[in-house]
Amino acid sequence: MEIIQDFIPAGRGNRPGYAMTPAFVTIHDTANENRGADAVMHGKYLKGDSAATAPVSWHFTVDDKQIVQHLPLTENGWHAGDGGEGPGNRTSIGIEICENSDGDRAKAEANAAQLVADLLRRFNLGLEAVVQHNHWSGKNCPRVLRARPGGWEGFLAAVKQFMQPEIVDTPILGQAVATLAQAKAWLAQKAPEWLEMADLYYSIAPKYQIRPDVALCQAAKETGFFRFGGIVEPDQNNFCGLAATGTPSDGATPLRGADPARVRFEAGVHGAIFADKATGVEAHIQHLYAYASIDPLPAGTALLDPRFVLVRRRSAQYVEHLGAAENPTGVGWAYPGKDYGKSIVRDFLASLGAVQATAEPVPAPAPDPELEELRAQVTTLTRQVEALTVERNQYKDIVEKIREYVRG
Ligand SMILES: [Zn+2]
Repeated sequence: MEIIQDFIPAGRGNRPGYAMTPAFVTIHDTANENRGADAVMHGKYLKGDSAATAPVSWHFTVDDKQIVQHLPLTENGWHAGDGGEGPGNRTSIGIEICENSDGDRAKAEANAAQLVADLLRRFNLGLEAVVQHNHWSGKNCPRVLRARPGGWEGFLAAVKQFMQPEIVDTPILGQAVATLAQAKAWLAQKAPEWLEMADLYYSIAPKYQIRPDVALCQAAKETGFFRFGGIVEPDQNNFCGLAATGTPSDGATPLRGADPARVRFEAGVHGAIFADKATGVEAHIQHLYAYASIDPLPAGTALLDPRFVLVRRRSAQYVEHLGAAENPTGVGWAYPGKDYGKSIVRDFLASLGAVQATAEPVPAPAPDPELEELRAQVTTLTRQVEALTVERNQYKDIVEKIREYVRG
């Protein structure tokens, strides 16, 4: 949430200016239910004479819409009621949560919890550093949180939740998380005629240090699991809509250094046409490489991506940043691309990673009665042949003896 800095001017009675290293965060409620008594209004109050004379000051006021900061975090304020040398006043960041009746109190508390979590992280403090105004002076403050059963505990739980590490974005460069076997099992479910795509992505992407699972998932998104059906036709071997801008080529689209033996444009066709599947996959990986890396193409590789030179290098190192709308640099693969990268992770990479790669055990074939009958016949005939052979040999012996007898 945006923090508006509206500091009490230096030298005012309520800006004492003692150097402070924050060790605590002190929570207050404003005890002002008036309509319009929001963060901005309290900022005005703190800059007025009444607050300067009191003197009273704190670091942040939080309402349901914004946060206003009144003092630098390197200086103390007068808010804890524990005296000029008190640790509450001299070592704690003071936060007032608004109670204005025209505001959303629950939202204001959530905003405050998020701010506290950010502060704890910034100053390397634990949850035990978050205390009530009551802790320093015994005052019934923060009165709303204190009055509501479980209010304070709930607030601390919200802070703890906001302190969880942020969801880590998905790198485009690196090792595959899903294995080749998983990729094949996944395609067997989703696009059984396209199993070879797993082999192509997993054999080509590592040369560029591109994650093959990420690239395969992007291709699955771009082509609807290789059903195509958009402006790019399957026989173009263009698996990521390269150069498919929405306007068909006039046949003179520049190749921008891409190998003319393997890449071409044709009048009336949307996007690039690649010589074969491997070329299309490699061009896709090169385009991802342009976004994720600042290095030149690996030695010995031909440029196949006709838009490689148009990419601002290393402008998207994470899948989530492939949509320009969600890329901090404002550029990206897809325009405006809201949810484009997140969708690759959520709708494709997650299901790929969840696939069980172990093949189904091949069931033993059911016995075939006809085959069994034939086997039995073969066994019988073999025995008969053996018996006849024995008989024949006996006759041969007898014939031989008769011959000897006749000669003799
Ligand atoms: Zn207070």
